[in-house]
Amino acid sequence: MDEPIEMSLDPKDWSAFRRVAHEALNDALDFLETVRERPVWKPVPPEIRAQLLNEALPVDESPLETVYEQFRTRILPYATGNVHPRFFGWVHGAGQAGNIVAEMLAAAMNSNCGGRDHGAIYVEREVLGWCKQLFGFPSEASGLIVSGTSMANLVALGVARNARGPLRTSGVGQAADRLVAYTSVETHESIAKALEILGLGSCSLRKVPINRDATIDLSTLQQFIAEDKAAGLRPYCLIGCAGTVNTGAVDDLQELARISKTEDIWFHVDGAFGALCMLSEKLQHRLKGIEQADSLAFDFHKWAHVQYDAGCVLVRRADLHRAAYSMRPPYLQGLSRGLGAGQDWPCELGIELSRSFRALKIWFAFKEHGARKLGQLIERNCEQARYLAERVATKPELELLSPAYLNIVCFRVRAAGLDEKSLDQMNAEIVTDIQESGVAAPSTTRVHGRLAIRINITNHRTQFRDLDVLVNAVLKAFHSRLALRIPQLPDA
Ligand SMILES: *Cc1c(COP(=O)(O)O)cnc(C)c1O
Repeated sequence: MDEPIEMSLDPKDWSAFRRVAHEALNDALDFLETVRERPVWKPVPPEIRAQLLNEALPVDESPLETVYEQFRTRILPYATGNVHPRFFGWVHGAGQAGNIVAEMLAAAMNSNCGGRDHGAIYVEREVLGWCKQLFGFPSEASGLIVSGTSMANLVALGVARNARGPLRTSGVGQAADRLVAYTSVETHESIAKALEILGLGSCSLRKVPINRDATIDLSTLQQFIAEDKAAGLRPYCLIGCAGTVNTGAVDDLQELARISKTEDIWFHVDGAFGALCMLSEKLQHRLKGIEQADSLAFDFHKWAHVQYDAGCVLVRRADLHRAAYSMRPPYLQGLSRGLGAGQDWPCELGIELSRSFRALKIWFAFKEHGARKLGQLIERNCEQARYLAERVATKPELELLSPAYLNIVCFRVRAAGLDEKSLDQMNAEIVTDIQESGVAAPSTTRVHGRLAIRINITNHRTQFRDLDVLVNAVLKAFHSRLALRIPQLPDA
């Protein structure tokens, strides 16, 4: 039977297609090359929002050129801003040019990395091998590239939970109702969310107070564990933070490892960004103990600047990892030869079956730049945070709320005559003013109950002078806000 050849999704005219594709690649590279000249962020204007939100499902085809033009004018100018050297909000990586190539090539291959025997599977295994080496995990340990640390925490805590009983078949119910996990009050919310998803409930997470330096208070932790045991509960998991999201504090991982051994409980480390300090010879001593973790979660898309999204979970005991997730129904059963061959399919180690070729961009990033340079950039960010903390300390209008443990500094403006509530409001407004000005993008958090201007530096493009620009922007916004307040004073 004659088939109409135009009934496929491939370009009818490859050379016309190529022209648009090359133009798009050029624009993408221009976008990165000139990032410093643009505002960090700008809001999506109402008319563009309307264009984006009000279009009905496209039923008819359009030339790629038209679609690309819409992307170029409606979407590209309104990026999050984290590629910019003065993006300091939350914990966002800055991405890199080489990953544009890697992502394009992964798209061309369009591999499904759930399993089977093909190149992408070996790339992922190689990347995982590098990670085991980096973190001092045994080569028999297992791991999985995932979307980010939220997913990595979930996968790891699922292994920790299932290691405590046949919960896969019985369901959580009574078998799990006495399990208790421990972590500091500063831990990331993805831990509680993981426990909710795992059916253990966030109330099964005991939040331990912190010391002055924002690390977990070890004696209270031990006291909690003893009390819980005496009450007939089953402590099963201890979660350490290697770099807390608020202030970048690193728990005493060595002591946590020791306690988890003594108490015979699982030791998980959330090292979303901080774990990559392992790449720096100067910083890696801060992570001592991480090599003893039963499981470790971290991101490549934060401090390794791999494009979103890319995280990783490592599990010391491969047998427990597989036991928690492996499922090979008949249509997924491996054969001894051919495409369907191979043991240890990634789908047996996590939640997703179909998976993208995330490992390729990580592989490109480590090969192109090398671990040494990535580590040096991390060191520089920590030096920049210390520089900022020093600058803040010299300004009478500014008050340091948390020092630079690693790469995060929290501070606020202060003024005589403003109570705590007005100060909170003032500092929040300053952060929004600066974001809207496009000069920089800080974010906010609370430190000791106070609203803080939070500066996180996970950015290979940031220069020391960018922090001077930031401090000046804060002071300028502060003085304009103060001037605005004057009319509110009683004029008798
Ligand atoms: C960012 C972060 C997470 C969550 O990671 P995602 O990659 O955003 O899912 C968890 N823990 C800490 C400490 C983080 O900084």
